[in-house]
Amino acid sequence: MTTKLERILIISLIAIIILVPLICILIIFMLAEAESEICMNTECMRTSVQILDSLDYSVDPCDDFYMFVCGNYLRTNFIPEDKTEIDSFAKIEDLLSHKLRILLEEPVHKHDIKPFKFIKTHYKICLDPEQDNTDTLKYLLRQLGGWPVLEGENWNARKFDWRNLAHKLRKAGLHSEIFLVINAEIMLSNSTQRILEVDEPVILYKEYLKKGLDDKITISMYKLLVDVAVLLGANRSKAEREMNDVIKFLVELAQISVPPEEKRASSSLINVMTINDVELIFPIVRWSSYINNQLLGVTKVNENSTINVLYPKHLKRLNALIIHNDERTIANFMFAIVIFNEIQYLNQPLRDRLNEFLKVADGNTQNTPKWKDCVDDVANRLPLVAGALYVRNFFKKEAKKNMQDLVKEILQQFKRELSNVQWMEENSKKRAESKANAINTFIGYPDELLNDKELSTYYADLGDPPDNYLLLDLKLTNFSVKAHYKFLTQPVNKTDWRKQHSPIDVNAFYESSSNSMHFPAGILQDNFFGYGRPNFVNYGGIGFLIGHEITHGFDDEGRLFDENGNLVDWWSDSTRDAFLENAQCIVEQYDNITVPEVDIKINGGNSQGENIADNGGIKQAYLAYKNWLSVNGRDMSLPGLSNYTNLQMFWVSTANSWCSKMRPEKLKYMLLSDEHAPMYYRINVPFANSEYFAEDFKCPLGSKMNPITKCKVW
Ligand SMILES: [Zn+2]
Repeated sequence: MTTKLERILIISLIAIIILVPLICILIIFMLAEAESEICMNTECMRTSVQILDSLDYSVDPCDDFYMFVCGNYLRTNFIPEDKTEIDSFAKIEDLLSHKLRILLEEPVHKHDIKPFKFIKTHYKICLDPEQDNTDTLKYLLRQLGGWPVLEGENWNARKFDWRNLAHKLRKAGLHSEIFLVINAEIMLSNSTQRILEVDEPVILYKEYLKKGLDDKITISMYKLLVDVAVLLGANRSKAEREMNDVIKFLVELAQISVPPEEKRASSSLINVMTINDVELIFPIVRWSSYINNQLLGVTKVNENSTINVLYPKHLKRLNALIIHNDERTIANFMFAIVIFNEIQYLNQPLRDRLNEFLKVADGNTQNTPKWKDCVDDVANRLPLVAGALYVRNFFKKEAKKNMQDLVKEILQQFKRELSNVQWMEENSKKRAESKANAINTFIGYPDELLNDKELSTYYADLGDPPDNYLLLDLKLTNFSVKAHYKFLTQPVNKTDWRKQHSPIDVNAFYESSSNSMHFPAGILQDNFFGYGRPNFVNYGGIGFLIGHEITHGFDDEGRLFDENGNLVDWWSDSTRDAFLENAQCIVEQYDNITVPEVDIKINGGNSQGENIADNGGIKQAYLAYKNWLSVNGRDMSLPGLSNYTNLQMFWVSTANSWCSKMRPEKLKYMLLSDEHAPMYYRINVPFANSEYFAEDFKCPLGSKMNPITKCKVW
């Protein structure tokens, strides 16, 4: 018999014998975990595989970090025949297209609101192989006076006036902004008001055309013009002769266009004057009637109304060009532009001929699948409706809250760094800080996209889609033109959902006139943003983009706008001079780079805003992550990559998201026209400019990734 006391003692002893080793094992296990917790969930495995598959261990990170991170990616990935590039952005765009395709191919439901019914029908019409609206277009062209090359001797030059044609084109819903573009924009000097701005026209492949008639792409474009005229019924030899005048005219138009450097925001873009004055200086058109015709009756201007002429010099040159060419050439040119804008709505032989040209210009060898073209068409024409359909089905709401926190942290980091900037005097620093505090951030999508009533009301005027694909396009153009000018009649509301980016944009934006950043739902996924993985992945992914967009508010253009989005000079002389000197270092650094694959130099002046944003953005994201580490201790590691420190992994995962492969044709045109440097330089140059990078990878001073001369603005 055991006493009660003995039983208690025995039970206690057994408990101690069992529990003590268990507790010890647990403590040892926890300590081991604290040392290095390797994240083993699916998300981490996926991220890890992607990084490991791309790394090239044979490259020294201090010699060429991009090739160290992306070398194997470049070796083992191929650009699909119908594409011109592959990278993280294109991968997400593909995912989005597939998701949208699923939604658009669902039958029209009874409970679908009208805008959703519209885009589902639009998609179906686009896919319809029977659609051939060539005759409709030919009929329309004839109604408008006819394309001279088709009309031959019947075409009457005396009846032609390009201003009248622009008016008729606008009324018909066809492309009318062939010489003059009249936009309703927020005033540069006063962001509480909108004003009509006179802009130059968009010219596709302009940089090639500028090179003249001997350029390979210019020649291809001439052949395309001839073949399209012939396919539409023109006599070949006449087409060759008349399109020769058209291509010459197009080349001259490209050559008088405003160089990209002169388009960067500055006070030279503010040339506000009354219509009366514009008529005196630029008698190219009767401005009030020309503008009223373009406005389609949405609102009206008179001689005393003010407009802003963005590029006065260009207007003068345009006037001279038009005067020096005969009516037939101008009419041939205008109709050609109109036809090219509508070619995708015509017959298959015309579409095939256009695709043949695009392959020469862009380098892809196959056409995009039809379904993809149709998803893109729907998404381009009604981006907010397509976006609403997407976010209602696919966007995770919790992403919004997590993004807000991340934006807040990186903004704080920017301000902390601002206080350390040596080259700014105190007053300018204070103004910069209040500008940073005033940045408005838009994440994911506007709530109105979930509101049936809001969407239905806004798109009520759109009505039902016509069965004819060409007429559908004209209807959409008419709707968007009117919607655009309606903003002129309403007070400026910088948070207006109708003016926001589509949630399906796989991109991020900073807008000077509203001092705001935009991170659409499209970018908040995959490499850039996710859950359950080490924090360095999000800081290097979306964190870098957040830093980049913040810095845009303080790049060569953004710095010219104050916290309210007005173009006013808030810089002291000495601070401005110091900024320009630092920016010049960046300009020259990129100017000195020749891209060997195509033997073309980066345009340091034109790309300086993006380069300043990259250099500042990576620093802020890095320091914000470092700060996160100091508050939270240790981050997780990725399987197979635990030999790298968390800080090293920040750089590795950032660069990994920018691994990219591009066809030489695309790379060439990008260098001639795009404000962004190629991905290789967007990683290697800012990393080499960072002393933090050099420290984390112990790169010896003087190595390629730790040069003695570094450039830094922010
Ligand atoms: Zn940018």
